[in-house]
Amino acid sequence: MSKILVVEDEPMVAEVVERYLRRDGHDVTIVFDGQSAVEQFARERADLVILDLMLPRLDGSAVCRKIRATSDVPIIMLTARGDERDRLQGLELGADDYVTKPFSPREVAARVRAVLRRTTPVEGRERMLEFDRIQIDGARRSVTIEGRPVALTVREFDILYHLASNPSHVFSRDHIVASLWGDDFVGDASTVTVHVRRLREKIEADPARPRHVRTVWGVGYCFEP
Ligand code: CA
Repeated sequence: MSKILVVEDEPMVAEVVERYLRRDGHDVTIVFDGQSAVEQFARERADLVILDLMLPRLDGSAVCRKIRATSDVPIIMLTARGDERDRLQGLELGADDYVTKPFSPREVAARVRAVLRRTTPVEGRERMLEFDRIQIDGARRSVTIEGRPVALTVREFDILYHLASNPSHVFSRDHIVASLWGDDFVGDASTVTVHVRRLREKIEADPARPRHVRTVWGVGYCFEP
């Protein structure tokens, strides 16, 4: 059972999402505005946050930024339909995934399962990847750079782990999406670009000239130790 914080100002939407998540056995808390979301999150830890972008008192992007300042909790954004700018903005702020409105509650529940599955590693399957400068612990989902721990979001970690599992091998964006997001993903490969940019800001000495997560133009990305 996971604790899920749902931040949504439309009571009907919040209730139907809550019902589906409870059916999956989760413990759900609902708040109806951004300020309450920040206060609730500070008061009680959550395993995952579902966050509407358009909220009274404090909007979803501000809430996301505040949560990210202290936590790597998985965040799934609810955004307006087809508005790519909103959706990419959510990812830029550190959300792990998004669902566009109007959505089916079944889709939200599936997305929650997918994200939680990623944060609960299967024993023995995930390896420890050790390089000169970077250590990636697949079981603990932790990363250290020159001995210093670096906090990555679920997606950032998944991308790094996937690339580093096969150093110097070039993976296309579509391959990364298919391997890591799987059938639950309905967006496009441009979201990978956003996650990679944020990942580089955290692990590269010079994010503008990445040494580890390299772009291979027209093909995709590869990891160089
Ligand atoms: Ca709203």
